[in-house]
Amino acid sequence: MTLFDSPDFEGHEGVHAFFDEKTGLKSIIAVHSTARGPAAGGCRMWDYSSAEAAVTDALRLSKGMSYKNAMADLDFGGGKAVIIGDARSQKTPELFEAFGRAVESLDGRYWTAEDVGVSPADLVATRRTTRYVAGLEGHAAASGDPSPVTAEGVFRGVRLCVQRALNRDLNGVTVAIQGVGHVGAYLAEKLHAAGARLIIADVNQQALDEVAAKTGARIVSTDAIFDVEADVFAPCALGGAISTTTLPRLKVKVIAGGANNQLADKTIGQAVFDRGILYAPDYVINGGGIINVAGEIRALEANTAFDPAWVATKLDRLAQTLGEVLDHSLVDKRPANLVADEIARTRIAAARA
Ligand code: NAD
Repeated sequence: MTLFDSPDFEGHEGVHAFFDEKTGLKSIIAVHSTARGPAAGGCRMWDYSSAEAAVTDALRLSKGMSYKNAMADLDFGGGKAVIIGDARSQKTPELFEAFGRAVESLDGRYWTAEDVGVSPADLVATRRTTRYVAGLEGHAAASGDPSPVTAEGVFRGVRLCVQRALNRDLNGVTVAIQGVGHVGAYLAEKLHAAGARLIIADVNQQALDEVAAKTGARIVSTDAIFDVEADVFAPCALGGAISTTTLPRLKVKVIAGGANNQLADKTIGQAVFDRGILYAPDYVINGGGIINVAGEIRALEANTAFDPAWVATKLDRLAQTLGEVLDHSLVDKRPANLVADEIARTRIAAARA
């Protein structure tokens, strides 16, 4: 199979492979689209089983970033970098400097940031060789931890879905949160403040104890979270939470959470819709994080300070966009994830035209 026949290839503008002999860097940078602006998306370091697996991931993730950035109404296209290697044992500052040279060679068509396996410390080394890096600390344009902004966007999305599906506010509504890490913990606090009752599950006991102490949440096992009596299921852990095995167990009317890639496969969105569950497409509802990063890139480009008011305006717009997706889904009787994909493709095509 060639790159162009891959099921994950969708008109990508550029797929760039980089090798640096001195440091051993093997990296793929995929630029899906620059129609709306420079491609923005993080860099993932992962011990891929093959170069082909790395390319597939870069294709899939960069397209995902195009869609996410378009739905967040950002003047950015989608791109993603992957570095092939073990993030626990193969990181060196020199490797990330070499990666920076790779980014720099694209001349600003791609902006990088952190993702799985890449930390702000790694980006400090990357910054020595390219300016197209977001997510560094300690400067006026810095945007800081995106998680609180992501959680705020998710909170608003949950509130909107509950309004639509149950015709009520969050007071007294029961929300089951899967994963109380960065995003899940902030979300729990916001929901608790709005009067929601919480049920939480995580593999990390300390995280559970902290959230339960702050919010009075009931703790259940990571398996039992799919069976609880709740109004909302909020996936905030890893991808693939909604599958053919978990969906039949859910008793909720709403699925809305911060995790990426919540639907385990392409058919499951239809199954969610057929069960009468209102689903907030993951890459729309969790767009707060990329909005925060975009705020930093914008400030870096203009040589100004980070502007929280700009981020707040974009978050308001994000909630409106989610509302539009849910409206179309209802009127057209189509799964919300497909509606979101269609709107994203239309926005990108309009910019291209
Ligand atoms: P995190 O690692 O801080 O939190 C994830 C939590 O899930 C951890 O506490 C982990 O112990 C828990 N977990 C792992 N497996 C679990 C399981 N089987 N059942 C229950 N809990 C489990 O990550 P995060 O930054 O909070 O991100 C959470 C999700 O949101 C991820 O999918 C991430 O890609 C997505 N996301 C995050 C942001 C952001 O701003 N941080 C933005 C957009 C999307």
